[in-house]
Amino acid sequence: MRSVSCPACDRQGGAAVIETDVPGLGKVRLVRCARCGMGYLDPQPEPDEIAPFYASEYYGGSGTKFVATVERMRSAMAKRRARRLARGLPPGARVLDVGCGDGRLLEAFAALGFRGVGTERAGRRPRALTSQSDIEVLAGDLTTTGLEPGQFDLGVFWHVLEHLHDPLASLQEAARVLRPGGRLVVAVPNLDSFQARWTGRSWFHLDLPRHLFHFTPGSLTALLSRAGFRVEHVGHFSFEQNPFGILQSALNRLGGGGAPVNRLYETLKGNTAGARAAGRLAARAAYWLGMPPATLLATLESLVRRGGTIEAWAERAGDAPADRQEAR
Ligand SMILES: [Zn+2]
Repeated sequence: MRSVSCPACDRQGGAAVIETDVPGLGKVRLVRCARCGMGYLDPQPEPDEIAPFYASEYYGGSGTKFVATVERMRSAMAKRRARRLARGLPPGARVLDVGCGDGRLLEAFAALGFRGVGTERAGRRPRALTSQSDIEVLAGDLTTTGLEPGQFDLGVFWHVLEHLHDPLASLQEAARVLRPGGRLVVAVPNLDSFQARWTGRSWFHLDLPRHLFHFTPGSLTALLSRAGFRVEHVGHFSFEQNPFGILQSALNRLGGGGAPVNRLYETLKGNTAGARAAGRLAARAAYWLGMPPATLLATLESLVRRGGTIEAWAERAGDAPADRQEAR
């Protein structure tokens, strides 16, 4: 564990908002920067300390992250997302998906005629990509992959930035490999959302200790500017993330409000070893009964710009970011 400062404004020593014991790691403190509101773990686990928390259960019992029905829904949503994010890009445009997971979004981009490069932590094999000649997946951190500068038209960090040890360096590297005027889309959980406020340490998207950073619209915008981007639009609604975030957080609270157990989420991932049939049935009932009201609440919190996630669209500024040299 090592002490860190706020990546958006370099300030050190924010006020602790959540302190909890994580088995296998010890005491974890989430602090908030007094200047920009960024949340981050301080001290922060080193890469080798966090690695065990990405063991196979994180990716689901069958190695595909979720059970079959959910997997089909995820593929459909990836296709829709790819069409949305690539709107207006010329045919054959190049896309970088940082932390591409199982490569599903890259596949969707390839199906639309775009060429994609993904990065993913070493040891994670993307599924079923071998036949796709328009997709290349590089193992390891974006900052160490040595990509040619200025080659991408679109960069995507889809619920990834909060997992990275140095989000500023990763965004600066994205700025370097994007062409001037290129598009960057970053989606992260929103620490300023109503669901984060209402459910505190039970908040599903807290995901301790894997989420090392927690953004607010202001602190994400500050970080993107520092890395060389002009933020053009910040949205808050994600059908994929927000209603489920409310439902699982509420269930965590009902379950005692201690460390989130995310039982429903684990069931959807197929991590049901040891669970009784009655437990699996209860999870299914909670999902189908809980999702309609959760969707309504998620829509309302997004309408007042306090939705569970932040989706920022930014443009790579023409000049090199002023503090890139100094920050490295
Ligand atoms: Zn700050």
